Amino acid sequence: MSKPQVITLGCRLNAFESEVMRIHAEASGHGDMVIINTCAVTSEAERQAGQTIRRLRRERPNAEIIVTGCAAQIAPEKFAAMAEVDRVLGNTEKLKAENFATGRAGERVSVSDIMAEDSVTAAPITGFETRSRAFVQIQQGCDHRCTFCIIPFGRGNSRSVPLKAIIEQTRLLVEAGYHEAVLTGVDISSYGPDLADGLGLAGMIRKLLGAVPGLDRLRLSSLDPAAIDDDLIGLAATEPRLMPHFHLSIQAGNDLILKRMARRHSRADVLEICRRLKEARAGAVFGADMIAGFPTETEAMFTETLDLVEEAGLTYLHVFPYSPRLGTPASKMPQVEPAERRRRAARLRQAGETMKTEYFNSLIGTRAMVLAERDRRGYTEHFAPVRMDLGPNAAMPAQGAVVPVSITGLIDMVLTAEPMTGTPA
Ligand code: SF4
Repeated sequence: MSKPQVITLGCRLNAFESEVMRIHAEASGHGDMVIINTCAVTSEAERQAGQTIRRLRRERPNAEIIVTGCAAQIAPEKFAAMAEVDRVLGNTEKLKAENFATGRAGERVSVSDIMAEDSVTAAPITGFETRSRAFVQIQQGCDHRCTFCIIPFGRGNSRSVPLKAIIEQTRLLVEAGYHEAVLTGVDISSYGPDLADGLGLAGMIRKLLGAVPGLDRLRLSSLDPAAIDDDLIGLAATEPRLMPHFHLSIQAGNDLILKRMARRHSRADVLEICRRLKEARAGAVFGADMIAGFPTETEAMFTETLDLVEEAGLTYLHVFPYSPRLGTPASKMPQVEPAERRRRAARLRQAGETMKTEYFNSLIGTRAMVLAERDRRGYTEHFAPVRMDLGPNAAMPAQGAVVPVSITGLIDMVLTAEPMTGTPA
């Protein structure tokens, strides 16, 4: 009998939830099932959802096709209208085992009001089908309403996962052999105020690492610069298991544009946060989400965003040309020409590549700890990609193992490295 197939589009939180669905689908006994976990962050992501559905219908003509995720939560009728689709599940419904146990007998569209959700309930998972680092959900939804963003309408308001459940989940993954976990959610910086223990993000992490000594490396997903406080900076300074790689949801480098985005930080705040994190944790590196061509952005405003890349020392850029999302305030503002958005995105990416090349070259001759993945590849603590050159007699490090290496060179934006001699494989 064929196995349920789960296709994940979008973010780490979707990847985590896809594993929860895989458990439920496999337990249901309905093998001929395809689940497509969609994303709605850009119109391109939605287009991909439609393409993926049509492709899977061609590949598995008799399978039951279930569409879920943010695009399905926001516009269920759109997917229900597709002949290729059997059922549409909302972001709450996708985490309930009973919705897979029904098989084809289930409701065609089962999508509840996500804004009514006040807690996070996801069954614990024991692993990821294809990953060497684990994702651990700590939070869901978002209370902010950035003017370009549709995510809160797919995910609801912010809710935090209780500490006990986070510890249990992380222990299960460490027992399953994971050495590294990435804390994920929609807005993890908002962790905590809805829980009785009053722990913020840093407080929760301290408790988590104390309770799971077997976890070697902890990484954080995207952080809101406005929410990075003394406690988190203090943790970065003192906790070696917290990886010195901080991904910031910056979006732009001009204050008027940040205001029109309804972001809670200024350009100066970003520079100050990066300065303080670098001071607290030697060698700290930054990634950033950036939007190019936000409505009303002039060339001069964009130049401030471009300059911020070098001024703040942003190494890993995720750049999106602005994508109007129906129903968001920004979609009603005067738009920048789509071609100009793409040109600016390309210039921003180029600025990021220059920073990354400089940074990777600066690592040659240094040592690092690499989380081994497949094909001799892996990532350092600073999230630099590495390919390990193994001597003739050296054994391949086990997938997921943490290996000390010395960095020898840079080829096609991947560092080359040699495992340190005498290093256990
Ligand atoms: S913080 Fe802003 S960009 Fe991030 S999910 Fe919330 S509304 Fe969207």
